[in-house]
Amino acid sequence: MRGEIIAIGSELVSGQSLDTNSYWLSQQLTAHGITVAFHTTLGDVLRDHLVVFRNAVARADVVVMTGGLGPTQDDLTRAALAECAGVSLVEDAESVAAIEAMFARRNRVMSERNRVQALFPAGATPLPNPVGTAPGIWMQVERATIACLPGVPHEMKLMFRDQVVPRLRQRGLVDLVTVHQKINLFGKGESEVEAQAMDLTARGRVPEVGITAHDSTISFRITATACTEAEARLLIEPTAKLIYERFGSLVVGEGTDDVPEAVAAQLAAANATLATAESCTGGVVAQMITAIPGVSRSYLGGVVSYANQAKIDLLAVPRALIESHGAVSPEVAAAMADAVRTRLGADLGLATTGVAGPSGGTPEKPVGLVYLGLSTSKGTQTRRLDIGSDQPRDIIQRRSSKAALNWVRLTLLEKR
Ligand code: AMP
Ligand code: MG
Repeated sequence: MRGEIIAIGSELVSGQSLDTNSYWLSQQLTAHGITVAFHTTLGDVLRDHLVVFRNAVARADVVVMTGGLGPTQDDLTRAALAECAGVSLVEDAESVAAIEAMFARRNRVMSERNRVQALFPAGATPLPNPVGTAPGIWMQVERATIACLPGVPHEMKLMFRDQVVPRLRQRGLVDLVTVHQKINLFGKGESEVEAQAMDLTARGRVPEVGITAHDSTISFRITATACTEAEARLLIEPTAKLIYERFGSLVVGEGTDDVPEAVAAQLAAANATLATAESCTGGVVAQMITAIPGVSRSYLGGVVSYANQAKIDLLAVPRALIESHGAVSPEVAAAMADAVRTRLGADLGLATTGVAGPSGGTPEKPVGLVYLGLSTSKGTQTRRLDIGSDQPRDIIQRRSSKAALNWVRLTLLEKR
């Protein structure tokens, strides 16, 4: 099956906003076994619509277009489609009622202009829009089955899933479903992980397994295609189980779940609280953990004690300790972790101190050296990280912050 995507809106071609609908729809069509051959983006100009629509209906089996279904003068999709099909526009009574009802629910009066949204090319099927006023259009023109959807991304996505895919399936245009499962690991490098997974990532394996790295997290992406979603999931299951067994505590979560999500979930499950004292990471640990909704029950707060004097004033780290060992030392990391834990009354105190670079490195304490401290009621431990003197400052900060949170995750995992 050949697919084509058309994105309509002058804001998209003028550079005011980015056409994200085509990108999303391409992934969806591809996953459903439709090969997308063309993307066209065009402004709100009638003659351009006609050129693009005529090309599309002559060369594609499935055309999905978004935008131009609003009530204003520049919304031309309905009229252009009718002209392309050589039919007139007719009002659909059910759509008028649905639009009126949508306005009533929002305590607003429907303007006459909105009636335009209930006009359809003769022979088309309206696609009800449960979340907005613009109904979509389903229509056959020449060889092409056409779905017109609103431009608003969340309306478009909902209608594609609920109304377009079942109709494509019914017509036999979609007979495959592709399912992905992403399993995320943290704590080892990509090549190290891959070395332990050569059998999984071998070309031609079913299901297919790919490895990607993002923000120091390594992800396995398992992909299976089958006639139904359930069958595809069944194909994926044994491989997912194998990854869990083989990589054990390196697995932090699935989908978009990364180390901070895992830590937040574990703190909540253990009913434990965390406080942080950061030097070289400058608050990145706090930012990562507070990005998780609902973490206020577990994360008490933290300090960014960047200068030596701040470590002394805010955390009572003894000046002599800093002078004898240096700010970047296991001793200072431990003192910071202890202090923040006791001052905030947390179960766990986590500290970072290191050389984020690009300057300030010495042979003994190179750029990328970071000490972590973790204090609990059972005592205080420290760890040394060598992120690498060739790494940029933001990578050193982010990777060491994630590694710090990962240590909390592993500690809570052991306790269970
Ligand atoms: P329309 O359906 O043309 O009235 O578009 C409504 C709104 O949806 C526009 O103002 C855009 O913000 C958004 N939109 C339209 N087309 C796209 C697209 N292809 N990608 C992302 N957003 C879009
Ligand atoms: Mg528009």
